[in-house]
Amino acid sequence: MAERMLQFVRLQQAQPEKRKAAQRTGDFGEIYREFVAEAASAQASRCSQCGVPFCSVHCPLNNDIPDWLKLTAEGRLEEAYEVSSATNTFPEICGRICPQDRLCEGNCVIEKGFESVTIGSVEKFITDTAWANGWVKPPTPRVELPHSIGIIGAGPAGLAVAERLRTRGWQVHVYDRYDRVGGLLIYGIPNFKLEKEVVLRRWESFQQGGIHFHLNCRVGEDVTLAELRAKHDAVFIGTGVYRARDIAVPGASLAGIVPALDYLTTSNRQNLGDAVPAFDSGALNAKGKRVVVIGGGDTAMDCVRTAVRQGAASVTCLYRRDKANMPGSMREVHHAEEEGVRFEWLAAPEAFIGGDHVEGVRAVRMHLGLPDATGRQAVTQIEGSGFTAPCDLAIKALGFDPEDLPAMFGEKALTVSRWGTLKVNHRSFMTDLPGVFAGGDIVRGASLVVWAIRDGRDAADQIDAYVRALAEAPTPRGQGEAHGMRERGETFGARERVTAAE
Ligand code: FAD
Ligand code: SF4
Ligand code: SF4
Repeated sequence: MAERMLQFVRLQQAQPEKRKAAQRTGDFGEIYREFVAEAASAQASRCSQCGVPFCSVHCPLNNDIPDWLKLTAEGRLEEAYEVSSATNTFPEICGRICPQDRLCEGNCVIEKGFESVTIGSVEKFITDTAWANGWVKPPTPRVELPHSIGIIGAGPAGLAVAERLRTRGWQVHVYDRYDRVGGLLIYGIPNFKLEKEVVLRRWESFQQGGIHFHLNCRVGEDVTLAELRAKHDAVFIGTGVYRARDIAVPGASLAGIVPALDYLTTSNRQNLGDAVPAFDSGALNAKGKRVVVIGGGDTAMDCVRTAVRQGAASVTCLYRRDKANMPGSMREVHHAEEEGVRFEWLAAPEAFIGGDHVEGVRAVRMHLGLPDATGRQAVTQIEGSGFTAPCDLAIKALGFDPEDLPAMFGEKALTVSRWGTLKVNHRSFMTDLPGVFAGGDIVRGASLVVWAIRDGRDAADQIDAYVRALAEAPTPRGQGEAHGMRERGETFGARERVTAAE
């Protein structure tokens, strides 16, 4: 066991074993194997224990990375888990899917010259070990408090709020239109990045801790926001962004052209064992097809790699800029290249061609010009450079915008930015509706899991303070003293409200 730190001068960086492309494309399992304890300890010992740890500064959760690396190097894994879970609701998930190359690891000071400490893999190892040893406990409070909080959306933002508020004793109710908990963790992100068991075991643990889930419940249809506000003392909105950006080119309505999230959700459901007619019929199944994915972000990379695993005849990715300017994580692009995906850089679609069904994407080559006022290089078409990529399935992965939430929830007082994201006070996380808070993608626009967790944790602190202030506020005459009511568990009728919500 490594007992000293600063081993980067002696020890090379090593990630857990990555399965060979030929093997991993035959199934949907995660591509990295787990560290063995000795390897995790040795890799953690490479950390130089910086006085000002840039890794932590650039982690959205400001995780105490040097501390848990040192504890791991010393084999004190239970303590490492305590430190790591103190700032992160889902360390094992972030360890798997954060773009570490842009966050913690990309800013590790030994990166230049020695290659960074493998922070993400060690974080995953610590929490997976904690699960294996029964150290991960449900969010059970020491004292039950009567007030209740309604959370709309069981994605990472909503779940982070739920866990933190439940631990503090509040009655927590989560509403989601889906039949499973996790949001994009369960139906967006594919298994080869995040196996679903990792999400499902958290769901079970949260239920054991007393968080109430109301699934198949679409707020705006099955229940209104006004009803939830009447039922709960505070409400958090974490509904994410789901309106797929479209391509307005000739032929865009042909059969066989599908939005990325429909395709990925179908694949995830099929892997979870659900009956999925759109997969069985072949409409959302790449098997034997020539697939073209349009876009250059992480969603596009998830689509190309899913298509490879479904047995596509060929998979091509069209992106209008070059590789260096792709918004997706370079690590994911590298995995896709290893798995046989063909990239057409600097190529933009002009039209879809075919009879009733798509048969090809006509594209044109692009040129990267000088940077514009935003610093981004302008793209211009190269005359006469058109070409056609044959295809039987075209997947549009051009990003997401928010749905019209004020209209969906029938609450005009919910104000939105010019991008349609919910406006909140950035200190209090409260929207323009008193007692209604929001965070995650619905506020930031399409972002990252780790930012959704950060928002959820910060918003939970604000909601906690808000509800405590409510509990301590003098109540109208005739309704009893607030403190007395709290002792009896009856403040503001919260007990009745909880029962009604169940
Ligand atoms: P979501 O995860 O979207 O959850 C929102 C929840 O709200 C959903 O469960 C939804 O059903 C529910 N909901 C919506 N409307 C209603 C309603 N009216 N009533 C009830 N419930 C409702 N990030 C990373 O960090 N790493 C990655 O590798 C990564 N890969 C990604 C791959 C894909 C394909 C996509 C689409 C995104 C990816 N992201 C990744 C981004 C990440 O998933 C999101 O930033 C994150 O999930 C946002 O969390 P959230 O809680 O705000 O919203
Ligand atoms: Fe790195 Fe993400 Fe973990 Fe932070 S949460 S340490 S950014 S992997
Ligand atoms: Fe350790 Fe790198 Fe963080 Fe420094 S920046 S504390 S070397 S992980």
